Amino acid sequence: MKQLLMPKMKFKDIYSIDFVLLYNMGYKNIILDVDNTIVPWNNHNITIRLFRHIQYIKNIGFKICLLSNNSSKSNVKALADGLQVLYAHKGAKPFPGAFKVALEELDGCIDNTLIIGDQIFTDILGGNIMGIGTVLVDPISKKEFITTKFMRLLERILTGRKIKYDNRY
Ligand SMILES: [Mg+2]
Repeated sequence: MKQLLMPKMKFKDIYSIDFVLLYNMGYKNIILDVDNTIVPWNNHNITIRLFRHIQYIKNIGFKICLLSNNSSKSNVKALADGLQVLYAHKGAKPFPGAFKVALEELDGCIDNTLIIGDQIFTDILGGNIMGIGTVLVDPISKKEFITTKFMRLLERILTGRKIKYDNRY
């Protein structure tokens, strides 16, 4: 069980990831969490930095599909349209159904797809159950759903995870 909670890779944020290296390793598709992975929770404004970084990742050759548990379908669609990426909105992480819909959108397979997210019990557990590559990043903001705060406590107890928050948010 504990193995299923361990990410394959860990980075501070999406800007610290070497996407060229990952592409050369054979990964071609990214399932990307939304809240606290690419935008602060409850604030879906697209910054120029985020927009440019997503275009950079796409220019390397990656296909990207947003997959969120928290945000409404219209919010995720608006964000996906703004960033010019795909999105999936069915089921919930960590359950395989949500990942399967995203994989279909991407036309990807488990060997060439990564999930990038900030939560162990949704993004990482779900990705590991599916058998896709898992990348854990620190959450952008300390502001989170009350249920997520509880999950953070479990993350710390069960995996020893310590989070360094970015003080800008
Ligand atoms: Mg998240």
